[in-house]
Amino acid sequence: MIAHPLILRVAIATPLRRLFDYLPDDASNLNNLQPGLRVSVSFGRRKDVTGVVVALSNQSDFPYNKLKKINHVIDRHSVIGSKHLSLLEWASNYYHYPIGEVIFSALPSALRKNNPITKYDEKFWGLTKKGVAFEAGLMKQAPKQSQLLKYLQERKIPATEEEIYSIYPRSKQSLLSLKDKGLVTKKTAGDSDNALKINKSPFKLNKDQKSATNEILKSIDNGSIFLLDGLTGSGKTEVYMTLMESVIRAGKQCLILLPEIGLTPQQIQRFKDRFEVNIAIQHSGLSDTERTQHWLAARSGKAKIIIGTRSAIWTELANPGLYIIDEEHDLSYKQQDGFRYSARDMLITRASRDKVPVILGSATPSLETLYNVKKDRYKHLILSTRAANAKPPKYRLLDIRGKKMHGPISQTLVDEITKHLNNKNQVLLFLNRRGYAVHLFCHSCGWKAECTRCDLPYTYHKNINRLVCHHCGVTKRHIEQCPDCNEALLLMGHGTERIEEVLSSLFPKATISRIDRDTTRKKNAMHDYLEKIHSGEIDILIGTQMLAKGHHFPNVTLTGIVDADRGLFSTDFRASERLAQLFMQVSGRTGRGVKEGTVIVQTYNPEHPLFQQLIEHGYNYFCNSLLQERDHSSLPPYSYMVFLRAEAHNSNDAKQFINDATMQLNQLTNNKLLLFGPIPALIEKRSGRYRYQLIIQSDSRKSLHAQLDNWLENLEKSKHSKKVRWSLDVDPQDMA
Ligand code: ADP
Ligand code: ZN
Ligand code: ZN
Repeated sequence: MIAHPLILRVAIATPLRRLFDYLPDDASNLNNLQPGLRVSVSFGRRKDVTGVVVALSNQSDFPYNKLKKINHVIDRHSVIGSKHLSLLEWASNYYHYPIGEVIFSALPSALRKNNPITKYDEKFWGLTKKGVAFEAGLMKQAPKQSQLLKYLQERKIPATEEEIYSIYPRSKQSLLSLKDKGLVTKKTAGDSDNALKINKSPFKLNKDQKSATNEILKSIDNGSIFLLDGLTGSGKTEVYMTLMESVIRAGKQCLILLPEIGLTPQQIQRFKDRFEVNIAIQHSGLSDTERTQHWLAARSGKAKIIIGTRSAIWTELANPGLYIIDEEHDLSYKQQDGFRYSARDMLITRASRDKVPVILGSATPSLETLYNVKKDRYKHLILSTRAANAKPPKYRLLDIRGKKMHGPISQTLVDEITKHLNNKNQVLLFLNRRGYAVHLFCHSCGWKAECTRCDLPYTYHKNINRLVCHHCGVTKRHIEQCPDCNEALLLMGHGTERIEEVLSSLFPKATISRIDRDTTRKKNAMHDYLEKIHSGEIDILIGTQMLAKGHHFPNVTLTGIVDADRGLFSTDFRASERLAQLFMQVSGRTGRGVKEGTVIVQTYNPEHPLFQQLIEHGYNYFCNSLLQERDHSSLPPYSYMVFLRAEAHNSNDAKQFINDATMQLNQLTNNKLLLFGPIPALIEKRSGRYRYQLIIQSDSRKSLHAQLDNWLENLEKSKHSKKVRWSLDVDPQDMA
């Protein structure tokens, strides 16, 4: 290290695991330079790259005269506060992921480029006092202005120019005219929303809700962690909102994470109806501009509620008061590629750093969370009754061995469906597999239709009459005759399209809707389906796990789990946990109204302990026995894991890379870690690449992580690493 005058240590979005040293430009006032500022620098051959200053220093590994000056400072103020910056550094260390990539993935994508932040500052249009009271209908001469004014009045909160133009294209002139009349003004993000209007809950909290709320309120000023454990429909969201009210009244902000599927417009509306405050939304459906504006509102403290999916965890809050993660067990909280973080674990880390309480909500908590409850690290709060007095469903395990079947549906299930439909109720059938048939094969010579890139069977989709590979997305023309022997090919295994076909012929008068990824691609499709379900237009719903979560279907009285056996015999040690969660979540759709619900479970393995324990003793009992198993075999949460994942076109390259890596890690750690590999991934070949893993395990988190950085540095230099794509997965959640 050599001592120098002021040096800027800059993070740049590159896979290199380090910061880069630059000198200030001549124009900058040195006193204004600070961590969190964005700067433009030349980097390699690129002349204008955006960087974020992470630290100021007087030392560099490089001689002073080798250091380049930055081009210029992009913003007047930092875009990341020092506390948040240190959280990002923590994440980079913990996940062993390059600091530049971590910092840039935490910025809204508009700010990853070098346009100044002020571009996003002043684009909100809101009403003036005069505008709020003005009778829009009076502006007969100016219909466009009248429309705009009405829109803003109904909306109550200011709108971005983008939002306005998307509804009223080319309305800039009308906006300006309204401004001249003193009816609207242009504002900085969220200015006007200092107004704090919180509406009353329509309900009185029940006993469980009240005691949970009180318990959390008692320790609202320290970073306690709560598991709010309640069946779907037990009123968790009401508890969240009651607590949010007191946090917001105290001038603080709430961050709420929802699973990808849970963040529907209806869900957001529920919060908007209750809280007429500035609400920042963070999910991938927003435009870059909107997302940046909401992000700025969160940072500045103007937004009182920040609500979003996984990536919302990276939103900086000026004044956090409460963290909530709903359906904490949901797999969508774990990023499965690139920077593989867990939003749930990060939220808990944030909570302890910020001394802010965090609520983990779930009807089916993860084993990690239940384990932490056992260890008294989390407080367990239970909502035992369903809020609106609905009863839990009745289960019926249906042994379908040798039974009369209509495709995937047994006669017994058909009879039950008939009964429920006759009683004017709705029926939900669950099968976690879209398409028509899962195999296309030749009975005579054994030929199978397989994707050559994945070596796995194609799924036949009848609607488009094509074969689709569900692993890499490739599609292919459907064929009816065996290419080898010309015999007619057979279709085996059922998907949701097949159930739809069977039921349509059995129940020609019923309205049947299939809800899966294929039928909900269009923007409002899911919303339209949900409306139709609620209005009672739909009699039978067929769906994949899209339907399993979060939604309220008060008139569904019968749920059929068509193929409960899938996943019973997986080699992934988390498979039973996931299956149990899915099982409970699907069942939770039933009987949410006043009517009692029934769940029929079709299985070829009725004696399997998973069903027996779940149905007879419930989810918590089942998880306790799973925890004992994990304890005996020293699996997480009783130990810690990291995966090294590698894939290559040539399977030997991938295996060789893992073998070398294993040797190196053993050397670095004196064989202190448990290493298993190369183990083929559950999907061993995908898109033409062979995929292998090294499982690294230890019962001490510290020793597990101690040598990883050195090891990764070696791996990056190793000659095999050029031939493979590889990545590290800390606290992996699946073996796919
Ligand atoms: P969860 O978040 O656990 O799924 P919700 O908070 O969404 O549960 O509540 C489920 C339903 O019960 C909602 O329709 C909600 O409006 C209603 N509800 C919640 N709390 C009460 C209460 N104390 N009294 C009556 N109804 C309630
Ligand atoms: Zn054949
Ligand atoms: Zn494929």
